[in-house]
Amino acid sequence: MTPTRSATTGTPAGEVARVLVDRLEQSTVSARRLAAERYAIIDQLRQVAEAETGASWHDPDDLAWRDLRAEVAAVIHIHEKAAQAQLDTARRLVHDFPTTLDGMQDGTVSERHAQILVREATGLSPDWFTEYETRLLPSAALLIPTRFEKLAREIRASLEPEALIQRHQEALADRRIAVEAAPDGMAWFGALLSAEDAIGAAAAVTGIAKGLKVGDEQRTLAQIEADVFRDLLVDATGVTPPPTDATAPVPSPGARRGVRAEVLVHVPVMTAMGTSDDAAVLDGYGPIDADTARQLCADAPGFIRVLTDPEDGATLSFGRTTYRVPAELKRYLRVRDEVCRFVGCTRSASLCDIDHTIPWAEDGETVETNLAHLCRGHHRLKERGRWRIRHDPGGTLKWTSPTGHTYQTRPAQRALGRRTPVRVGAPPRAMTQWLLANASPTGDEPGF
Ligand SMILES: [Zn+2]
Repeated sequence: MTPTRSATTGTPAGEVARVLVDRLEQSTVSARRLAAERYAIIDQLRQVAEAETGASWHDPDDLAWRDLRAEVAAVIHIHEKAAQAQLDTARRLVHDFPTTLDGMQDGTVSERHAQILVREATGLSPDWFTEYETRLLPSAALLIPTRFEKLAREIRASLEPEALIQRHQEALADRRIAVEAAPDGMAWFGALLSAEDAIGAAAAVTGIAKGLKVGDEQRTLAQIEADVFRDLLVDATGVTPPPTDATAPVPSPGARRGVRAEVLVHVPVMTAMGTSDDAAVLDGYGPIDADTARQLCADAPGFIRVLTDPEDGATLSFGRTTYRVPAELKRYLRVRDEVCRFVGCTRSASLCDIDHTIPWAEDGETVETNLAHLCRGHHRLKERGRWRIRHDPGGTLKWTSPTGHTYQTRPAQRALGRRTPVRVGAPPRAMTQWLLANASPTGDEPGF
């Protein structure tokens, strides 16, 4: 790809710009080459792993494959889903679309275009690969990615129109709900809502879905969550029976099922006292304004207040209790971990198991230095014994992969409060008294 260039103006600034554009072009070509090299390496790594461990890309849920995927994710520092996509793309570029990989190697095809070409061919019969690539690839140097993607879909649909039906079925299996943070205390949950409404609503949907995941239910929790969301909107009677009295107000979905969201709000103590307007942090979202945080602390059932030190964000006290035993340690771990503690995982701690690092059966203790949240998948991976885990001071976990590489995961970091004192000379005694008056009762719950 060599853009046509007219002669420069000849001024010194024009000359500098010309040199910079040349360098930008060279650096873009280099990045494409390096990306091609990365895919080639990833695919070689896959072949070595498949030969040595019996892992197979045909079975992505197999634990040997998950070892490989977890290691790729850890070394590139990406989510495992993204690592799976890299492994898939690498294999298909090397074996199914080698001309595209050649194009990256010679700098004419960008990584983004190559990813689109591969992705849009998912499920296409191998008989069509050459035809698809031959018709689509020349446009990689001409069209920006969004238009290239549109063209890829059109070519794909023209080759195998009946496959679209199957692709939709596969896509449907991936249905789920998602909250997407937006600026200024807002978030998307199918609608642009205040962050606390969005997070609370999503937690309520999860609560209903968990209640339905019983017996021989075949759907995944993610699928049930999406179905609950749809039922509540499309058919309000689909989840729970309608009120017998037609004139009675329709209660909120959460109230109907007796489900109450449990969402943590980390509030700097001075903000809670009303003497500062430092931002609070809503779990699963991020910073929210002080007024909203104070309202949630005062009268929003289901929002659990976590008071934090105004200077370093350390947890001082938990707010109202909504958990039963052994609540105190569980809550501490949930605040400490926030998400699954495997490398790169973002599964919320509220959906994870609390794992004994040294198993209970092997005299592992039920103490914070031997406990960590792991999602179901990573719990199984750890129990398989090929990834080793060590607790370091300060809540850091050190993981050693099957190939002997080490990766660290740290406890949740919150940039709460200020690093300088909020108010010079703020009376410590007043704060102590306020804390005592507002602290939740502790030590009144049976231990383990
Ligand atoms: Zn995990």
